[in-house]
Parts: sequence; C-alpha cells; structure tokens
Amino acid sequence: MSKLALYGGPKIRSQYFPGYNTIGNEEMDSVQKVMKSGKLSAFIGGWHPQHFGGEKVQEFERSWSEVFSIKYSVSVNSASSALIIALGAIGIEPGDEVIVTPYSMCISATAPLFYGAIPVFADLDSETFILSYEEIEKKITRRTKAIIIVDIFGQPYEVDRINKLAKDKGLYIIEDASQAPMAKYKNNYAGTFGDLGIFSFNYHKHIHTGEGGMIVTRSKELEERCQYIRNHAEAVIEGSGHENLVNMLGYNMRMGEIEAAIGLEQMKKIDDLISKRLENVQYFEDEIKKFDFVNIYHKNTDITHVYYKHAFRYREDKIGVHRNKFVEALKAELMPFELREEEGISISAGYVKPLYLLPLFQQKIAIGSKGYPFNQAKSEPNYKLGSCPIVEEAHFKSLICHEFIVPSMKKEDIDDVVNAFEKVYDNREALNE
Ligand SMILES: *Cc1c(COP(=O)(O)O)cnc(C)c1O
Repeated sequence: MSKLALYGGPKIRSQYFPGYNTIGNEEMDSVQKVMKSGKLSAFIGGWHPQHFGGEKVQEFERSWSEVFSIKYSVSVNSASSALIIALGAIGIEPGDEVIVTPYSMCISATAPLFYGAIPVFADLDSETFILSYEEIEKKITRRTKAIIIVDIFGQPYEVDRINKLAKDKGLYIIEDASQAPMAKYKNNYAGTFGDLGIFSFNYHKHIHTGEGGMIVTRSKELEERCQYIRNHAEAVIEGSGHENLVNMLGYNMRMGEIEAAIGLEQMKKIDDLISKRLENVQYFEDEIKKFDFVNIYHKNTDITHVYYKHAFRYREDKIGVHRNKFVEALKAELMPFELREEEGISISAGYVKPLYLLPLFQQKIAIGSKGYPFNQAKSEPNYKLGSCPIVEEAHFKSLICHEFIVPSMKKEDIDDVVNAFEKVYDNREALNE
C-alpha cells in the first residue's frame, strides 16, 4: 500500500487531466466572417429597427427559441445581466421580497438587491440541493413577488408542484437554468418552466461564448420589457409607444455579433457534449458505488440531468474521516485539467458557502452605506448562521462535488480518480493520526 501523496508518497496521477475545449474551426470560421464584415455589433440604443441587434444576434435568438420550443429569446452579455433584467421586467418594486436559494452562483441571490428588493433565503431539498416546495412555502409572505429557482448542478426543479404553488400565490418564477441547458422534466427543457428562464454562456458552462447569456419567455410583454432594459429602455420607450415606465431605466447588457456567431456554432455541439457527460457519470457512478461512504444522491423523477457538476454525499460515519481531510488527501493524489491549471484540482468539499453568510448579507450593506435596501424590509431578514440547516449540513459536512465527468475525460482518466478514492480509503487510518 503506497503512502498518501498528502504525506509525501507518489501521486496516483501526475499528468494533467485532458483539457476540454469546445471551440474548434467552426467557431473560428464563423468569427472570421463577422470580423471581415467589420460589423461587430449592430445595436442602436434608441427606437430603431436596430434596437434589436445585428444579424447574428437575432439569428442566435431565433435558433435558441426553436431548439427550446419557446416563443421568445433575448440574448444578453451574461446570465448575471439576464437575472437583473428579468427582475426588472416583472415590475419588481423596492421592498418586494424574492425567495432565493443559498446554494448557487451569488447573483442568483443578489439580483433582487439591484432593484431595492429583499432576498429571502429558503432551504433546500436535502437530496437534490434545489429549493424545496416545503421550504419555499414557509417563506411566502404578502410581500413576496417572485421566486428565483436554480436548477443547480444540472437538474430541473420539481416543476409541477412548485409552479402550482407559485400560481396559487400569484408569484412569478424566474428559472436560472445556467447549469442546466437541455436538462429535461417530462420532455420539456429546463429554462422554459418559469415566467422567464435564463442561461449562461460563460467560459465554464456546457457551451460558451466567452461571456454571454440568454433569457427566454412565452410572454410578448415580458420579452419586450427585457429587450428594452437590455438596451437603454429610457431612450426607447417614447418611440416604441410602450407606456409602462416601471423599471424602464435601461442598461447596456447587449451581446456582440462575435459572441452570437460563436453561440450559433456551440449550439450544434451541445447534444454530443451532454451525451459524453452522461456516459462519464454512468461510468463513474458504477465504479464508485462500491464505496459505502459515497451516497449518490437521489434524482427527481421524470428528469434528465445534464451534470454541470457531479455531486454526492460523503458519509463520515462510514469511513471515520472528516470530509475535508478526505478531500484534501484526494486532491493531493490528483491533478488539474490542462488549460485550466490555475483553477486547481476540480473536486471540492462543499460547493459555495451558503450565500447569506457573505459579508454583504451579514453586514447588510449593499447599495450605499446606510443599509439600503435591507432597511426597506417589513420584517428583519434572517441571514444568520443556522437559518438554513439543510444547506449548512451539506456544505460544511457532507457534500462533495467535482467535474471529473466533463466531455474530455476518458475511462482511463476516470479510473485514476476512482483509484485515488480507493487509495485514500485504504489509508484512512493514517488520516486520523
Ligand atoms: C454561471 C452562473 C450564473 C452567472 O452566469 P454569468 O453568465 O457568468 O453571469 C448564474 N447562475 C448560475 C446558477 C450559474 O451557474
């Protein structure tokens, strides 16, 4: 039994894992055409046919709508922008409450603050790490306006029950499907289940354009409002004849022609990229299930998961080693991905710290220095440690997530990861010395 790399022994894997790069000649050719045309963006920030952007931007939006079988798509420069725009579009007011998840990229919870609205954290379903019906229900008040629900790690939320709850209570649903493009619930695509859905095309996502995002909706009214907010609503509204001025203070959150050209090519690859991920997950899970300290988590029924990350629960009681120590030892045995060396080894104890623990929420300082908008809340928002026990248990004790299932991973590469689990398990006594 060889010595743990953590204590100076040889690593299981000393070469980088194969880098995944989804950009190929197709994207390069397409970008070159845009470059040759000289038209890198065709947006005009006023009431004008070009208020809606250039040729590639509009083509990307049409293709997205077609693939996702949804009426309208509005491209933007990031999913973060998409969330802010979506909240503006539903007519959010200062002091309104928005139910959010503590376990996501930070903007999924901070977006309401940009409109002076109050993020109210609800706890997660302990198996899927998505906002649970029961926890959402507990947080609804007369001031609740919307729920931002995140299809975390690539799995759609419990659509039927939660949509019915939102409908009964008159709440908007904004679905953050940044991690779940092409994931399905009963044969429909994630992102299309709320009043508005959003996607991300940043460098880390399933498909990317460097930076970029998309908003989808079935509502003509919401689509128009998103388009206005994306591109200087205040200068557009008069000419357009649109009379509702609420939140028609716009931004420049437009996508360029180059990103749209890349996006159009990336879309053609997404099915293959996802099938490869699913194959890798299957292989990894089949190998790893021999370890009783690994609990592959439950998936909702009627869904297709697309595994932005692969997450599972670690059972300290079965192995007798603290999770953080285990992950530390595991990391020492493995290597980063090529091209992403600086990101470190792609496995972590927990995901992101529960978002209400960020200094912004702890000190209630977001806009200006006097506590706005938290001081607009009807009742003091609870951002205390202990307020969402399920996410805290997962994050601080039992969740492990990793990306050793990305499309570039081959079976031999996954074998190395599994061998590292085995080696650390066999040496578990050494970890407690
Ligand atoms: C990546 C991500 C975002 C933000 O995406 P950007 O395009 O980088 O702004 C938002 N929500 C979730 C769940 C994400 O994973």
